Amino acid sequence: MNKLFKNSRIIKLFILLLITILLLGCGIALFYFISLRKENLRDKYYFESLSDKKQIGRLVSVDKAEGNIYYKYNYPLIGDDKIDNEIKNIVDDSVNIINKKYSLDGNVEYYYFGKYETYIGMGYLLSIILYDDFVTDDLKLLENSYESYIFDLNTGDMLSNEDIFNDDYIDVLQGFVKNQKLDKNFKYYVKNDQLVLLDYDVTIPLMKIKDILKIDLSRRSDYTNKNSEPVYDVVNKEMQLVESTVLYDEDKIVDKYERKIEKDTVVNVYAQSDTGWSIILLDNKALYVETRYLKVPDIISDVQETPNGKIVYAITDLNIRKDKSVKSEIVGELKRGESVIRIEDDGSWSKVLYNNQEAYVSSSYLSLVEVKIRNVKLNIPPQGNIDPNKPMVALSFDDGPNPISTPMILDVLEKYNVRATFFDLGNLMEKYPLVVKREAELGEVGTHTYSHKNMTKLSVDEINNDLKLSRNAFKKILGYDPILIRAPYGSVNATFRALADMPIIGWDVDSLDWKYLNKDLTLDEIDKYGNLDGRIILMHSIHVSTAEAVEILVPDLLDRGYQIVTVSELAQYKGYILETGTVYNNFK
Ligand code: ZN
Repeated sequence: MNKLFKNSRIIKLFILLLITILLLGCGIALFYFISLRKENLRDKYYFESLSDKKQIGRLVSVDKAEGNIYYKYNYPLIGDDKIDNEIKNIVDDSVNIINKKYSLDGNVEYYYFGKYETYIGMGYLLSIILYDDFVTDDLKLLENSYESYIFDLNTGDMLSNEDIFNDDYIDVLQGFVKNQKLDKNFKYYVKNDQLVLLDYDVTIPLMKIKDILKIDLSRRSDYTNKNSEPVYDVVNKEMQLVESTVLYDEDKIVDKYERKIEKDTVVNVYAQSDTGWSIILLDNKALYVETRYLKVPDIISDVQETPNGKIVYAITDLNIRKDKSVKSEIVGELKRGESVIRIEDDGSWSKVLYNNQEAYVSSSYLSLVEVKIRNVKLNIPPQGNIDPNKPMVALSFDDGPNPISTPMILDVLEKYNVRATFFDLGNLMEKYPLVVKREAELGEVGTHTYSHKNMTKLSVDEINNDLKLSRNAFKKILGYDPILIRAPYGSVNATFRALADMPIIGWDVDSLDWKYLNKDLTLDEIDKYGNLDGRIILMHSIHVSTAEAVEILVPDLLDRGYQIVTVSELAQYKGYILETGTVYNNFK
C-alpha cells in the first residue's frame, strides 16, 4: 500500500515535470515564433534601404490616371505623429512638384492605410487586396479602366518604359514578391533609387525605396501595443457613401467584415471617433465604417417626396421583383424614364411601391434625378462614303487634345482619308483649340468631361457644373454642343446617366496603349480581339507611341477590308438610333 502510494507520488511528480518541460518548450517556441513573425513583418512591410542596408525605406505609390489630370497616391501611416507628418510632407512636396509641372488640377486622393500594423506600409498592396476582396462591379469597372503614369518623386519627371533596368534591385524585388505571396511576373525598372513595378494587375505603381525615413522598428511595435480607446462623439446625422466599402463590427480593419455597403447609400451616422471611424445603425445593429467613406448627402433640389418615400426614375428598363434577389419572381417592369416611389434603399435593392404592393428593384439603375430621354441627331459628314454592307470599325481617342501626339494621329487620318472620334477634355480643348478644330474637320469630337474626374464620385451639382464647362468649351471652339460623351474611366452610375443628356460611349476593344506605351504591344493587344466589325477601339491621343501605332494600324485595317469611321457613323450605318443616358460599347 505504502509502496504503491510512493509510486503514485513519483508518477505525479514525473507528470508535473513533464508538464513543466512541455510548457517551457511551448514558451520557447512561442518566443521564437513571435520574433520570427516580427522579422517577417519587417521584410513584409519595409524595404532595406538600397544605399545603406541598415535603414528602412518606405513604400509610396503614385498612380496617375490617364490624361495628365487625375492622380492619387497612397502612403502608410506609421502611427507616430512625427513620422506620419514627415511622410505626409515628403509626399505632399512630391505631389506639388508633379502638380506644378503638369498643371494638374490637384484632384488628389489620399489613402491613409494604417494605424493598424497589418496595414502599415502596405499602401500599394492594400489597394490590390481591396479590389480583390471587396470588388463590386463598379469598382471592377473603375479598376479595369484605370490608367497610371509613373513619376520620379524627386524631380516630377514622368518616367517612360525605356528607363533603365538595374540588377542590384532584383534581390529586393524578389524578396518583396515572395513575402507578399504574389506569383505574378513583375516587370520593373529602376530610376533614381526608385524601383518601379510595371503591370501588376492593372495599375503601375511607383515604389520609392529611398532612405528618406529612418524608422526604428521598435517604435512601430510600441505603437501597435499602445491600446488607446478612441473617443466617440454622438453626431446623429445622415451621410452618404462616397464609394462602396464594407462595415465591420468593431472599429478596426479585420479580415472578416460584417457586410458590404454600396456607394451612394445614405446612412444614419450615430457617432464618430477621433480615429477615423463612424458608427452607423443598420437593422438595429451598430456597425463601423471608416469615416473617409462618408460625405454629406447629395441634395437634389427638385427631388420629389411623397408620404411613402422619394420618387425615383429608371435609367434603363428594369424588372420589378417580389424579393431582393435576381432569382425572385418578376412582378412587373419599369420602363426607362418611368418613375416609382422608393420606400427604402439598402444600397443594392430598393423597396418600391408597385401597384400598391411592396416590391424590389435594383438600386444601381434608379436615379433621383428625372431621366429625360431623347433621340440624338448624329454628326454625319456629307462626304461620307461608307458602304453599310462592308465591315467597319471606329477608332476613338481619349484624353486629348495633346499638341504633339494628337496632330501626329490626325496626319495619319488625313493621309489615308479615314475618320475617327476624339473624346476630348474641356480644359485641354481650351488650351489647344486649333488641334480641336482639326479633329472636328478630320473626324468628330465628343466630350470626355471637362476635367476627367470620376463622375460617380461627384455630387449632382458637381456633375452639372462639369458638363456645363464642357459645353462652354465646345460652343466657344466648335460652335456647337457635344453630342457624345465618354465617362472618365468608363465609370458611370444612374445619376450621371440621368444628367449627361448625351449617349454615353464606351468601348469594347481596349488597346491598353496607355499601359504599354509601345506601338507593337498596343497593336498586338488590338489583334487579340479578332473580328473588329461594329466595334469601338479605345486609344489615347496623348501618347506618341499611340500615334506610332495608328500609323501602322490604319493602313493595316484598310488592307483587311475595314472602313474606318467615327463612332457616330458606326452607329448610323449599323442602324442604331442613339438615346441620351444609354451606354453603348459597340454597334455590332
Ligand atoms: Zn480618360
